[in-house]
Amino acid sequence: MRKIMRLELFLVVSALLGTACKPLSKVAGRNKLLLISFDGFRWDYDQDVDTPNLDQLAVDGVKAKYITPPMLTMTSPSHFTTITGRWVEDHEVVHNMMFNTTTNQKVPHKETLKRSEWWDNGVLPLWITAQDQGLKTASFFYPGGAAKYRGKAVNRVLLEEPNHKDDNETEWRQNINTVMRWFSEEDFSLVTLYYGEPDNVGHAKGPDHPDRKKIIQQIDRTIGYLREAIEQHHLNDSLNVIITSDHGMTTVKKRPQVDELILNKYLNLFQLASFEILDYGGFGIITPKPGKEQEVFDALSMAPNLTVYKKNEIPENFHLGKSERLPPIVVVADLGFNLNSRIIIYVNKGDHGFHNGEMDMKTIFRAFGPDFKRNFLSEPFDSIHIYPLMCKLLQIEPAPHNGSLTVTEDMLQHNGGSQNARLSVALLLSMLLFTFTTL
Ligand SMILES: [Zn+2]
Repeated sequence: MRKIMRLELFLVVSALLGTACKPLSKVAGRNKLLLISFDGFRWDYDQDVDTPNLDQLAVDGVKAKYITPPMLTMTSPSHFTTITGRWVEDHEVVHNMMFNTTTNQKVPHKETLKRSEWWDNGVLPLWITAQDQGLKTASFFYPGGAAKYRGKAVNRVLLEEPNHKDDNETEWRQNINTVMRWFSEEDFSLVTLYYGEPDNVGHAKGPDHPDRKKIIQQIDRTIGYLREAIEQHHLNDSLNVIITSDHGMTTVKKRPQVDELILNKYLNLFQLASFEILDYGGFGIITPKPGKEQEVFDALSMAPNLTVYKKNEIPENFHLGKSERLPPIVVVADLGFNLNSRIIIYVNKGDHGFHNGEMDMKTIFRAFGPDFKRNFLSEPFDSIHIYPLMCKLLQIEPAPHNGSLTVTEDMLQHNGGSQNARLSVALLLSMLLFTFTTL
């Protein structure tokens, strides 16, 4: 009798332990991950447009109220923080353009995307870390994906052609089809997919223009298409999807509403600076000529509607100060002001690059798939925490990073559950053994 009971107990306990030790994803094989970025998707862009598919996503998955990009609310720096989990001062992708303050060379953004020397600064992006642990990964237009890291390339890379049209809805769908085939027919585990909208429309026409609402509806239809495609490729139970972006967008303030900034009014750039990137939205950098740093700093301190920083005095929470690439002077304009250098030739109606604390710079986070809870509204968080979440989803060991899984793990189905369950089983086991020994 006792023997039989003991056998039963053994079976019960083994079963319980089996369930409890189950990792996040299903035991046989790990789930796949698709990271989609819609450039310049401000956190509230879906609030004044009808977006049935995005609304449904919130019901079927996770939505964060908003997320905060790193300081340097620009495409390449922010995307690289998402894919590395590192602050800009650590990954050193400090601008959309590659530059050299000694030679005065500036490489346009699209050209910079191909230049490994701009991206490969010792920090490993998720693609490479996942590949090193045996997974197949791909980058579809995602910034940083076309570079090599310590000599290693991402398994499959597609790079935008120089004159690529960003808003072609048919192509958007074709790209989804391609990615679905990579997952279902070629066993890719991680794909990052980038779309250049709504950033372009935001720049060209401003965030309040009706065309911005149109492109949000186009994005919404694309998300509907994505969900159908996932279903058709039978990926519903094995593919997690994260949809996010790199920064928001704000309306550029123009005359006559404001007195637009012209920095040369406050300092003679020709005489005092040997290198500069200005006329590029709300973020500017200046290399003063030898011995002129204080003069440049003092002059710009007198200018209205901007804040000037010496690099070594940048607030710590910007996580920029340790950068070796940033020149000694960094300028951040007040929201909506462009940092014009000498004359106003600036045509953008919307822009970014402003302080990441500004609500207009905040962006979106949505997620769904087998490992995510349903109908879960997350509090806001910093985009740097997406990285450890992605590692958890892919069940890989993360590279060193600045994020924390504790920020996002509540959105997961079996969040920390295995460990808690294991503890309860151990407790149950000792109680039963105690009962037995006292019988
Ligand atoms: Zn942009």
